[in-house]
Amino acid sequence: MKGFSTRSIHIGEIHQLDSITTPIFQTANFLMNPSKYKVDNRDSYIYSRISNPTVRAVEQKLANLCGAKEGVLFSSGMGAITCSLLSVLSENDRAIFLTELYGGTHSLIEKVLPTLGIQCDFFSVDEISKLSLDGAKVVYVESLTNPLLKLTDVEYLARIAHENGALLFVDNTFLSPYNFRSLEFGADLEIHSVTKYINGHSDVILGFATSKDENLINKIWQKMYTLGFNPNPFEAYLVARSVKTLALRMEKHNHNAKQIAEFLSSHDKVVDVRYPSLYKQIPSCYEGCPGFGAVVYCDFLTQENALRFVENLKIFKQATSLAGVESLVTIPSLTSHASLNDEQLKKAQISKGGVRISVGVEDLDDLIEDLSQALYKI
Ligand SMILES: *Cc1c(COP(=O)(O)O)cnc(C)c1O
Repeated sequence: MKGFSTRSIHIGEIHQLDSITTPIFQTANFLMNPSKYKVDNRDSYIYSRISNPTVRAVEQKLANLCGAKEGVLFSSGMGAITCSLLSVLSENDRAIFLTELYGGTHSLIEKVLPTLGIQCDFFSVDEISKLSLDGAKVVYVESLTNPLLKLTDVEYLARIAHENGALLFVDNTFLSPYNFRSLEFGADLEIHSVTKYINGHSDVILGFATSKDENLINKIWQKMYTLGFNPNPFEAYLVARSVKTLALRMEKHNHNAKQIAEFLSSHDKVVDVRYPSLYKQIPSCYEGCPGFGAVVYCDFLTQENALRFVENLKIFKQATSLAGVESLVTIPSLTSHASLNDEQLKKAQISKGGVRISVGVEDLDDLIEDLSQALYKI
């Protein structure tokens, strides 16, 4: 795998902080000069829902980090997922999804896509070798799943998808472009919730989709502005600042989380720890990853123990998001997966005593000390 180029961070320097007013000026230009400004040209800034100079600069920066030239920024990760799927799927089409997807994506698949006549089927990471595509147009997965941290073999799926004339979409949020670049292993589209690592400061909601296929990107861009999933330019500007420290933050997340996973797995009060650096075997496309990010899952067997643990933590705050500079902790069976009954939880392999930790960039000794004192109180 090619290294992560920090040089690409400097591409497309941002200089238009007043971008929200810029389109008004440019609309005047458009009225005087209509032939120069066309709706189907992403670089003619006639109206900020359609395109915006600050947003464009950030799109090109992020695409570069993912190993592509073009991408589309959205008002949220869910906006990116919705527009990407709707740009290639329509009535009577079939798509196949990973069972272990993010909850919001599940809601989209279960509540919205069927109303448009799109047939949705599921497969689990554990049954990847049995997957049969059967005319599906899209295979949709996450590279590293939440909260159980399973690694999906993107390289294998890209081969199977392409042999069957399907596209492979990869939500790469949990690894970030620093740790893994799915397009290099054959994915047709890579999606990010920019809200997580790419912004990393828990103060912005944005999404991103990128591909080497500019035709696909153009279709997704048209869905973005037609459905009104346009990103806020000021938030885009904040992301332009955030990505300057993406590599630094990822190195610290990777290091802290790996050490914490090892610490927890050697502790007698923790019955199971999941973090990819602990696995005996991983798909070969992940062997060159510099690390696996901030999220560690551990199991305390009972909800009572899990609660006692999280309530006694001082640095780790209880909150549902992840991948920001601050350490957070959550109990999936009480939050993201609260709507599942006992049987469904078991099927999803989520224990009632399961705890998901998002390890921030604080001092590692302070974090381990905090975990130790909370473990002592179980
Ligand atoms: C958070 C998240 C999303 C949704 O992103 P938003 O920015 O909250 O809309 C999608 N996929 C994954 C894996 C996520 O963690």
